[in-house]
Amino acid sequence: DVRVRFCPSPTGTPHVGLIRTALFNWAYARHTGGKLIFRIEDTDAARDSEESYEQIIEALRWMNLDWDEGVEVGGPHAPYRQSQRHDIYQGVIEQLKERGLLYESFVTPEEMEARNVANGRDAKQGYDNFERELSQEQRDAFRAEGRLPALRLRVPDRDLSFDDLVRGPITFPEGSFTDFVVVRPNGIPLYTFVNPVDDAIMGITHVLRGEDILSSTPRQIALYEALVEIGIATHIPRFGHLPYVMGDKNKKLSKRDPESNLFLHREHGMLPEGLGNYLALLGWSLSHDRDVFSMDEMTAAFDVSDVNPNPARFDEKKAESINGDHIRRLLPADFSARLVPYLGGLVENPPTAAQQSVLDAAAPLVQERMQLLGEAPGMLGFLFTGDDDLVYDDDALATLGDTSGEVLRASIDALAQVEEWSHATLEEYLRAALVDGLGLKPRLAFGPLRVAVSGRRVSPPLFESMEILGRDSTMARLEKLAA
Ligand code: GLU
Repeated sequence: DVRVRFCPSPTGTPHVGLIRTALFNWAYARHTGGKLIFRIEDTDAARDSEESYEQIIEALRWMNLDWDEGVEVGGPHAPYRQSQRHDIYQGVIEQLKERGLLYESFVTPEEMEARNVANGRDAKQGYDNFERELSQEQRDAFRAEGRLPALRLRVPDRDLSFDDLVRGPITFPEGSFTDFVVVRPNGIPLYTFVNPVDDAIMGITHVLRGEDILSSTPRQIALYEALVEIGIATHIPRFGHLPYVMGDKNKKLSKRDPESNLFLHREHGMLPEGLGNYLALLGWSLSHDRDVFSMDEMTAAFDVSDVNPNPARFDEKKAESINGDHIRRLLPADFSARLVPYLGGLVENPPTAAQQSVLDAAAPLVQERMQLLGEAPGMLGFLFTGDDDLVYDDDALATLGDTSGEVLRASIDALAQVEEWSHATLEEYLRAALVDGLGLKPRLAFGPLRVAVSGRRVSPPLFESMEILGRDSTMARLEKLAA
C-alpha cells in the first residue's frame, strides 16, 4: 500500500512551494487509497519555531488537506516530531555502528584541508574516507586528546542509481560523494540521517519532494541500503522530485518574495480550492484543455508519473483568474458566507440578521465579477456604510459633469413618485426621467447616481443596489451629493 509523507521543517511562514509538495503527496495518497503521514522535522532548534509549526498546521487545514497519521492526529509511529524521537535515532545509530556501517571520524575541517593540500589536492576538495579503518588505539588516542568523533556513513564504492518517478533514471557515479557525516560530534544526527531513518521506520513507499533535495537522494539511498542490512528498512522507497517553483525573472521563488507566502493569498481572498487548483498546475495538469478543476477531480486523476519535471512559474494573475472560476462555482449561500471574513469592520462575524439579508441580496450581484474575495469591501462596502459616512472616490467624483446636479435633482423628484421600491420600477422611473425626460445618454444619466449611492465609479448593478439600499438611504445619498 502506498504510504507517502509530508515532513516540513518548521521555519518561517508556509511557502506556496511547500504546500504544493503537501498537495501532491495528499493527492497521491487519496488517488491510490494510501496513507499520508505528516511528520515534523524540527531538529534545528536554532531555526525551528512553534509559531511556524502552528502556521503549517493552519495552512493544511485551511487548504483541506487531511492526513492519516502524524502530528495532531497520532498513529502507530508516534511521536511524529523529530525533536521527540531522539532515543529512536540513538538505537539505530548503535546498530549501524555495531555492523561497521557507521564509523568514527575525528578529523577537523582545518586538518582535512591541510591533508588535502599535503596530498596535492584542492584544499576544499573534502573528505577522502581516510578514517575508515582507524584502529582502536588510534581512536583511543584521539579521545585521550579530548576529541569527540562525528559518525560517518560508509558509502558503497560504486555508482548509485534510482529511477525518479518524475525525471526517469538518474545515476550518481562512484565518487560523486564520499563518506558523509550523519551524526555530529555533539551526538546530534543530521537531516540526511533522520529523514531516511524515519521514512524507513514509518514504512514510506514514495518520497515526493522538492527538486532542491535531489542532490541528497543518493546519500539517502546509501543510508537506506545500510538500514536494509540491519533490518530497519524492508525496501528502498521510490523517489520523485517535484519541479522548482519560479518567481519573476526566472528565479526560484524564495521566502523573501511576498507571493511565496501562502497566507498572503488567503488574505487577498483566494479560496482554498482556487489556490489548490492553481498550485496543482505547478507541475501537473488534469488535461491539456482544462485548467479549472476541483480537488476531487484532481485526486481522481493524479499520478506522480504525470508530473512535469520542468520548472513551473508562479503566475499570480493566472491564479486569480482560476480563483474567479471557483468563486462562480460556489453555491450562493456558500459564497456569501465566505465573504464575511473579508468584510471585517463592515459586517459582524457572524453578521446581524439585517446585515445577512443585505449580504444575501447583494452577493449574487458580484459573484460573477469577483476574482478575489478581498475585492468584497470595495464592491459591497457602500451597502454596509452609514449614509453620512459614505466616502466618494476621487476618480468617481472626477466623472461628475455639468449635468450631474440636474440629474440628481430630477432623480429625486422621479423617485418620490415610486411606490414599489423594486429595481425594475426604479429603472423604469429613472429612464423615463433622465433618458427620455432630459434626453441624456444612459452613461451620463446613471453615472452620477452610481457615484451618489456607492461613492465609486464602478459598482454592482445600479438599480439592484438601490433596491437593496432601500428608499430612505438611497434618497439621503442622492440629496447629499446634490447638495
Ligand atoms: N524537512 C525537509 C524539508 O523541509 C524534508 C525534505 C524531504 O521531503 O525529504 O526540506
